[in-house]
Amino acid sequence: MALRTPQEYIASLQDGRVVYYKGERVKDVTSHPTLSVAVKHACIDYEMAEDPAHRDLAVIDDPHVGETISRYYHLPRDSDDLLKRSKLIETATGLGRTLVVLIKEIGTDALFALHMVARHMDDNLKTDYLPRVQAFYRHCATQDLAVAVAQTDVKGDRSRPPSQQIHPDYYVRIVDEKPDGIVVRGAKIHTSVMTNSNEVIVLPTRNMSEADRDYAVAFAIPVDTPGLKMICSPYGAPRHGNFDHPITSQHKMTETLTVFDDVFVPHERVFLQKEWQYAGALAKTFVEFHRFTAISYKLPLTDTLVGAAQLIADYNGLLRPGHIREKITRLIAYTQTLRALTTQAALACRVAEEGIAVPSPLLVNIAKLHFAENYHEMIGALQDISGGILVTAPGEDDLLNPETRPLIEKYLGGREGVSAADRLRALNMISELTAADFGGYQAVLAIHAEGSIEAEKMTIHREYDFQDSLKLAKYVAGLDA
Ligand SMILES: Cc1cc2nc3c(=O)[nH]c(=O)nc-3n(C[C@H](O)[C@H](O)[C@H](O)COP(=O)(O)OP(=O)(O)OC[C@H]3O[C@@H](n4cnc5c(N)ncnc54)[C@H](O)[C@@H]3O)c2cc1C
Repeated sequence: MALRTPQEYIASLQDGRVVYYKGERVKDVTSHPTLSVAVKHACIDYEMAEDPAHRDLAVIDDPHVGETISRYYHLPRDSDDLLKRSKLIETATGLGRTLVVLIKEIGTDALFALHMVARHMDDNLKTDYLPRVQAFYRHCATQDLAVAVAQTDVKGDRSRPPSQQIHPDYYVRIVDEKPDGIVVRGAKIHTSVMTNSNEVIVLPTRNMSEADRDYAVAFAIPVDTPGLKMICSPYGAPRHGNFDHPITSQHKMTETLTVFDDVFVPHERVFLQKEWQYAGALAKTFVEFHRFTAISYKLPLTDTLVGAAQLIADYNGLLRPGHIREKITRLIAYTQTLRALTTQAALACRVAEEGIAVPSPLLVNIAKLHFAENYHEMIGALQDISGGILVTAPGEDDLLNPETRPLIEKYLGGREGVSAADRLRALNMISELTAADFGGYQAVLAIHAEGSIEAEKMTIHREYDFQDSLKLAKYVAGLDA
């Protein structure tokens, strides 16, 4: 079996997984009023594989695996593979009305990194990680699995490394080693899509020293493994009503506090076991792929901001004023700069271990920094163009009430030819994107997801090759003959 139907995916989530939502144990994530919205959102991935309009992008006859698989699982070999992967992520996120699907994007980012770092370790330390990674990769690709990644630890005192925390479980660690596997304890946070995934890959989140060796651990386990507990965030619960909430009535992603309560991991699923020298390399290599995923899935969001600004300016009869055009122009430059950098990061890839193409970390991080640092200003521009009605408009119920509908229709239309209902639909979309809790979610996601702004700056400084600019500066200054 290489490709699953949406129904097969949904059925695969009905297992013994331990999920808590708003203080209660969830019996079945596929029928839970909130979590089922996330399941349905994730189905976009499986629907695309069946849809003739998207199949060529979503599916590939993979010579390496020897089967027809989801393109996400295709190990990128060159720029073209990276560009197609980026396009797939962008298209799926567009279908998700600006919300990334993520059930294969993040897992494959981790699998690519694991291939590369496992090869390094096996070459240098004579370990046998690569065959384990390859077997797990094959399992996921040929079963068409949904895979979450739990990297971010809860971290306690951020100024201290894992081994110097006030209690020993602020970072996930190995607490026992048995003949057939290891036992792990600790908690990760912000784990996206895990409530509706089949497997979770656990990675270290930072560099480690020898004192931290128990914390240098990477592995993968099924989400229903005994001892694995997910406490789901209630933030951004889905809203009812497609008119008032065009995005959140249909799309949701979940995040969990992910607790490993003495979880047994068999040896064949362990990919890093105390090799502390490689914790940082694994964390960093994953992030190199994951930020490329990020800048790809940001594109539908930034494009929507442009389209939304143009739409509401038109509906409000404001296409001509200079300051509106200036704001829309900045929005266009914002999204097109992101697109150009994303494309160029794929074109400037390097082919690394295992023949895997790695997008340019310098350009990926510049793109991510550009997106994150300017996001709130761009949201401000769209709010400015839209007007205060973003948070004061009557709702769908008022449009359905025969007493209030004529009043709304009479008073809330836009320029000639634009009905109140159409104008409110456009405003509701902008309100969700910029002012409602989904807007808040996107704003925090922009700053933190895939690593904080400072992490991006550090990578840019580290990756930039100063040689040519230094040489030029010296020449201009007359320092070198
Ligand atoms: C919606 C969402 C989804 C996410 N999904 C996932 C996921 O699926 N899997 C996953 O593993 N992670 C996920 N993340 C986590 C994401 O990668 C982190 O939010 C990010 O790495 C920042 O970590 P933090 O949130 O713990 O913030 P912190 O690390 O607490 O950072 C807060 C601030 O402190 C600064 N800081 C922290 N430590 C130091 C230090 N030692 N010195 C100086 N400054 C410091 C940071 O630069 C930042 O400015 C997700 C995050 C969000 C918001």
